[in-house]
Amino acid sequence: MRPSAFGATPTLAAMHAEIDRILIDRSAIATRVAQMGSAIASDLERACGADRLVVVPVMTGALVFAADLVRTLPMRLRLELLEASSYPGQSTVSQGVTLGAGPRTDLSGSHVLILDDIFDSGRTLAAVRELVLARAPASVRTAVLLSKRVSRSVAMRPDYVGFEVPDEFVVGYGLDYDGWYRNLPDIAVLRQPVP
Ligand code: 5GP
Ligand code: MG
Repeated sequence: MRPSAFGATPTLAAMHAEIDRILIDRSAIATRVAQMGSAIASDLERACGADRLVVVPVMTGALVFAADLVRTLPMRLRLELLEASSYPGQSTVSQGVTLGAGPRTDLSGSHVLILDDIFDSGRTLAAVRELVLARAPASVRTAVLLSKRVSRSVAMRPDYVGFEVPDEFVVGYGLDYDGWYRNLPDIAVLRQPVP
């Protein structure tokens, strides 16, 4: 991996020991997020009345992606955070999705854009989409930065995908292992088994 990702202090070097390799570096992420923003903005401009766009990032993994993506959308929008968790603690295998209460504001008549970090089994995004649809929005779109190359039982697919990635546990750019690595600017593969 690039030695400068976190710098070379002893603590940060210890973190590098858990990283197998960089899969997508920060400049490729920035380029792709900007492309996704343009595509989403032009679709939304056609569909969306002023002030009726609500962006729902799925926390905590979508935090960094959402922060970058919303700044490429040249329109008035509201942000409503939604909590979801499938990999509590040190799990690298999904433990099933747990959703928070969801947006507090009224979504009826709004155009909703759900953002998540990664589409894996698809259960999280499918569950979040159902929760949003139950609030009678005018439309719902979904965008993920990453989609794993896996076979899935859920029928839904995200409307926008940044990158297809292999079926490996990835961290960085918002994605964590046991809460760590969300601040890594690149997307990296975690070493398995974790040292
Ligand atoms: P799904 O419900 O699609 O199986 O999983 C989606 C959620 O699980 C994502 O929002 C993400 O938080 C988490 N997840 C899935 N795959 C990975 C991965 O490779 N790394 C990390 N850090 N989280 C993942
Ligand atoms: Mg998540």
